[in-house]
Amino acid sequence: MLQANDPKLKSWIPVAKDSDFPIQNIPFGIFKTKDEGPRVGSRIGDMVIDLNALFVLGYMANLPFDSEDFKTEYLNNIMQKGKEATRDLRNRISKLFREDFPDLKNNEQHVAQVLVDVKEVEMLLPIYTRDYTDFYSSEQHAYNVGCLFRDPNNALLPNWKHIPVGYHGRASSIIPSGVAIHRPKGQKKGPADEVPVFGASTLLDFELEVAFFTYQGKPLGDSITTQEADDYIFGMALFNDWSARDIQGWEYVPLGPFLGKNFASSLSCWIVTLDALEPFRVPGPKQDDPKILPYLEYSGNKHIDIKLEVLIQPEGGEENLVCTSNYKHMYWNMNQQLAHHTVNGCNINTGDCMASGTISGPEEGQYGSMLEISWKGTKPFKMSDASERKFINDMDTVIMRGYAEKDGVRIGFGEVSSKLLPAK
Ligand code: MN
Repeated sequence: MLQANDPKLKSWIPVAKDSDFPIQNIPFGIFKTKDEGPRVGSRIGDMVIDLNALFVLGYMANLPFDSEDFKTEYLNNIMQKGKEATRDLRNRISKLFREDFPDLKNNEQHVAQVLVDVKEVEMLLPIYTRDYTDFYSSEQHAYNVGCLFRDPNNALLPNWKHIPVGYHGRASSIIPSGVAIHRPKGQKKGPADEVPVFGASTLLDFELEVAFFTYQGKPLGDSITTQEADDYIFGMALFNDWSARDIQGWEYVPLGPFLGKNFASSLSCWIVTLDALEPFRVPGPKQDDPKILPYLEYSGNKHIDIKLEVLIQPEGGEENLVCTSNYKHMYWNMNQQLAHHTVNGCNINTGDCMASGTISGPEEGQYGSMLEISWKGTKPFKMSDASERKFINDMDTVIMRGYAEKDGVRIGFGEVSSKLLPAK
């Protein structure tokens, strides 16, 4: 067991029972305050830990980090130091805040410099991502989309159970939780339209996804195997991969998603390390019908049990739960995605973002997009204020939350929340 994952650990910082951030989590993020600019933080309970302050006060001695790794706008610097270094960093933070470790706890002046109430911070985009890849790895989602647009008898395309299908997305429009987006405009051609029309998307959707972020990979030409993949994955976050279904439907042939996808993807601000999620590993589905190619085979449990939910909150109204799903429902896991991504020699870099694809569970109520929830608009979702949703309305806020829980330890992500504003 990793030292910082011990379920018996308790912190001297109070942690509410249903908090996403017990001492076993120790996520990483970038925050700023009224008086000071961006720096690296972690979190326990409702306290943000200023890692730059910890460094300046000498609590990071004998770790391979410098001042510029913590007084910085992105986590890329600490990620650049690799898995062992970030694991040691997480262990050090865990130790400093353990109930039975007095050094920092008993130094009131230092505590005041190191801890900031979460209400007083602004969370920023945590990672600089140069390349963003979006997969399509939930079987139920691929099946549902196949049923909606093709034929229930041939819902999965012939390649789907052989290849972790994906495409290269747009990294520049990955934005942190809390940043509103505008309804995108573009070309659309509905079934009744003779020619394409230009206008605001009327079929604006969320996609419930989880993203992982990579350490520096291998040189161009080399590949990462499924067994090596864990060493190249830093951590994970919640990801709302916004989609304009009408723009997407007209443009995607033959080269795939473009303007229907690249206008925004919203990211939760705390990166939960893969280390913190190790206790929640579960087996994945059998992949022997058809049998997968050897380079995609893996051993051990590589799926992760993460409970996920999506809520829609109209302006001034209450949150409506529209979906509960789970990351364990993936057909292809991260190790397979990374092995596939690099099998041709494609290089990955520190901070690359790889998203799961919409995560739909096997039952109704577990579908991870409005496209599926409203079954292409034929089954509108009834909101608590008696209004209906086929897709997302202007001024709706879409909220995604997620956490893993086992043996009385809950490791959560917080939330990714973003409001949809009218088209500009
Ligand atoms: Mn997506």
